[in-house]
Amino acid sequence: MPNPAHQVIIFLGPPGAGKGTQAERLAAEQDLLKISTGDILRDHVARQTELGQRVKPILDAGQLVPDDILIALIRDRLASMESVRVIFDGFPRTTAQAQELDVLLEELGAPINAVPLLEVPDEELIARIVERGKTSGRSDDTEATARERQQVYRTQTQPLIDYYSARGQVRAVNGVGSMPEVYGRIVEAVR
Ligand code: ADP
Repeated sequence: MPNPAHQVIIFLGPPGAGKGTQAERLAAEQDLLKISTGDILRDHVARQTELGQRVKPILDAGQLVPDDILIALIRDRLASMESVRVIFDGFPRTTAQAQELDVLLEELGAPINAVPLLEVPDEELIARIVERGKTSGRSDDTEATARERQQVYRTQTQPLIDYYSARGQVRAVNGVGSMPEVYGRIVEAVR
């Protein structure tokens, strides 16, 4: 029997769409844990852990970190949760990750509740990332890496839209507008 206390939201959308910021607020207001794989990986890089040293060049190139690493990270985070109340930001990013997440959630009896898809036009995405790069301190927030991440998104992550659409879980949200405007649309979409 699925536990009704479980709540699983997967944020989809290209790099720079604002998933992190929006997921942060939604998590705070709906008592969910935001799991941002980008933040987790950057934390490893900052602490210079073994994993951090291994993934740094991958992050800097705008490429994806191998699936098995991500899956182990997520498995770890979920294992300790009594009720699974999470927003995934930046995971899954490949079909293999999505399939593994299904297995994991099935084991935990926690179905996916909604998959909001934040939509923003390509050129605005690049501009946002370059702007963010002025203050973010992220070594991957450059125009060249942003374009590479865009390309990786198109080839490896976009297929997930079909993966979740086939189950009727995707809710497209217009990501252009002020932060509170977009947030309002997301709240409607995941209701
Ligand atoms: P953005 O959405 O702006 O690209 P993220 O913080 O989500 O930023 O991700 C930054 C980088 O971390 C990615 O370019 C990739 O190298 C790595 N990464 C994050 N999540 C994943 C994932 N689920 N699978 C593989 N690599 C990931």
